[in-house]
Amino acid sequence: MHKPVLVCLDLEGVLVPEIWINVAVKTGIEELRVTTREMPDYDTLMTQRLKILDRHHLKINDIQGVIAKMGPLEGAAEFVAWLRERCQVVILSDTFYQFAEPLMRQLGFPTLFCNQLEIDGSGRIIAYHMRMMDPKRHAVAAFKSLNFRTIAAGDSYNDTAMLAEADAGFFFRPPEHLPKEFPQFPVTESYSELQQLFSEFARWNK
Ligand SMILES: [Mg+2]
Repeated sequence: MHKPVLVCLDLEGVLVPEIWINVAVKTGIEELRVTTREMPDYDTLMTQRLKILDRHHLKINDIQGVIAKMGPLEGAAEFVAWLRERCQVVILSDTFYQFAEPLMRQLGFPTLFCNQLEIDGSGRIIAYHMRMMDPKRHAVAAFKSLNFRTIAAGDSYNDTAMLAEADAGFFFRPPEHLPKEFPQFPVTESYSELQQLFSEFARWNK
């Protein structure tokens, strides 16, 4: 049997800008620029971020307004549309549904597996809930067990387990140090390069 192809894409850095960095820029709150690079413990980082939002009286609607103005990366919507004409596409992200929503609308609402924020009646973000540990790798492993041929693309550390698990994994615009650490994943810098490599792997006539 010729297995159908399923493509898993990271969201931030691949289809949309880094959400927190842009929220920091657009709100002018410098403290929100801190990422897992400076604070490796994600729980400490998220707890701090929620406290900062609270201190500035920022509710979910304010953040969604900022995120809506970001827009996807140039060419991302066309790339996703091109892909969805050829295979199944699932976006695997560590972000939250409530943050991603304004951007997913602009991408035509592709399937997204991510996490949830807990929001009270006034719109205040009171907690965050991760769906599971190591969700990207688990998703790819599950798709393989369902007899899909999997392709994955991502830009960060949190994508490397997904890239390794997939039948074919590619970096997309990674920070310079990452390909040195993971030389097994080909590096791409444009959607046309991804289209070329995906087409070769899946044997699509581009
Ligand atoms: Mg990313």
